[in-house]
Amino acid sequence: MEKKNKTEKVCPCGRIIADPNNKTGLCPKCQKTGINIGGALGVAGIVILVKKHGKKIIKGAINVIKNIK
Ligand SMILES: [Zn+2]
Repeated sequence: MEKKNKTEKVCPCGRIIADPNNKTGLCPKCQKTGINIGGALGVAGIVILVKKHGKKIIKGAINVIKNIK
């Protein structure tokens, strides 16, 4: 077994990461997918929060608006 490059990383999908500055350990394609998944989870989290605490958040938002005005 011979390693060409010490810093060579392989993405979980099997692609070799060519970028030595890559810190995520994911190839650009998976990074995009990961960001999309993260974004979707973030949105889902907000939706869950709003569903759970919707009234409180809306009341809070109204109070904030009132305070601003
Ligand atoms: Zn990948």
